[in-house]
Amino acid sequence: MALDGSVLERMVAIRRDLHKHPELAFAEFRTAECVARELAACGLSVRTGIGGTGVVGTLARGDGPAIGLRADMDALPITEETQLPYRSARPGIMHACGHDGHVAMLLAAAYHLAAMDDLRGTVHFIFQPAEECEGGGRAMVADGLFRDHPCDSVWGLHIWPGLPVGRFATRAGAIMASFDTFEIVVQGSGTHAAMPERGNDPFMVTAELVMALQTIVSRRLNPLCPAVVSVTQIHGGDAWNVIPERVTIRGTVRCLDEAARGRIETLIAEIGTGVAVAHGCRAEVRYIHGYPSTVNTADSVPWVARAASRAAGEGACDSDVAPSMASEDFAFMLQAAPGAYAWIGADGAVPSRPLHNPGFDFNDAALPLGAAYWTALARDLTARG
Ligand SMILES: [Zn+2]
Ligand SMILES: [Zn+2]
Repeated sequence: MALDGSVLERMVAIRRDLHKHPELAFAEFRTAECVARELAACGLSVRTGIGGTGVVGTLARGDGPAIGLRADMDALPITEETQLPYRSARPGIMHACGHDGHVAMLLAAAYHLAAMDDLRGTVHFIFQPAEECEGGGRAMVADGLFRDHPCDSVWGLHIWPGLPVGRFATRAGAIMASFDTFEIVVQGSGTHAAMPERGNDPFMVTAELVMALQTIVSRRLNPLCPAVVSVTQIHGGDAWNVIPERVTIRGTVRCLDEAARGRIETLIAEIGTGVAVAHGCRAEVRYIHGYPSTVNTADSVPWVARAASRAAGEGACDSDVAPSMASEDFAFMLQAAPGAYAWIGADGAVPSRPLHNPGFDFNDAALPLGAAYWTALARDLTARG
C-alpha cells in the first residue's frame, strides 16, 4: 500500500515542525491546533479540549464498526543535543519519544482514509496529551472519550528503537508494564553523630531498606513473574556531624501482572514498617498507582499482523515479541475497549538512539509505513462490519 507522495511530503514537514516546537504534557496547545487544522482539512468533524488538550477527529461513513486510532502528542523535559536543522527551538523541551512522528503518521492515515470512497463505518482519530507520566490517556477516558465517541476497538502504535524500519511487533496479553511510585519516610530520632546511642538513626533503616526491597522480586515473587522495584531517590541529612530526624526514600515499581502489582504494594508497606521498627524508627509508606499494564486483547493481534503485512510486506510483524518493562498510558484506553498496542521499527542503517535520549530523532523512513499500517488496519476493521 503506497502512500501518496504529496501527503508524505506534507507529513514530513509537519513532523519536523512539531519537532522544532515541542510542548510538555497538557500544554500541547500549538500541536493540538495543528492537529485540529489538519483533521478539518481532511473534512473530518473535529472536537478539541477532551482531557485537556486532547483532539478527536471523526470520519463517519454510515453503518459499520467504530474504531479508535490513537497517537500521543507530548514532548519531554530534555535538552536536545542533536544538530538537526529542525532541532528543538525550546530549551529544555524535546520530542525524544517520537510523538511528533506518531502525530504525523496518524494524520497521514486520516488524509488517506478520508479520500477513500468505499470505507464503511466510523474511524475516530484520537490525539492524546500527556503520555509521559501525567496520564493524558486516563484524562481523555475520564472526560468521556468513549462515551462521546464509542469505539468497538482501540489501537495504539509506538516507534521502537532496536526494531528495524519495516518491522512491526506486538503480542497477546501484557506488552508493557504497570508504572507505580512509592515513598517511604523513615522517621528516626536525631542526635549528635558522635553519640548515636542517644537517637535512632534513620540512615541504618534506609540502607537496609534499599537492599530489603530487592528481596521482593528475588525472594517473594514467583521467578517467572517479571517485576522491577527500583529505589531512585534518597533524601536526608545536611551536616557532617548530625544524624537527622528523617530520611525519605522514593522509587518506582513495574510489573506485567495485576496480582503481582498488588502483592508488591503490600510487601513494600510490610518491609518498610518492619525494618523501621526493628531499628527503633517508624516508617510512613505511601504507594501511588500510576499506569496499569498495557494489555492487548488476544484476538486483536492477528489484525495487527495483517495490517503490518499490508504496510510492509508479508511477515513484517513479530506477533509474540517479548514485553517491555516501560509503561504506556494507552493502557487506560485498552481497559475501556478491546484492541492492541504495537511497535513500529526505528532502526535504519544506523541504529536509532534510545527513546528519551537527548540525541533521539524519529526516523522519517518509518512515516509512510506507519501511515500505511493505520490505513490498512482501519480498512480491514471497518470492512468486517
Ligand atoms: Zn516516552
Ligand atoms: Zn512515547
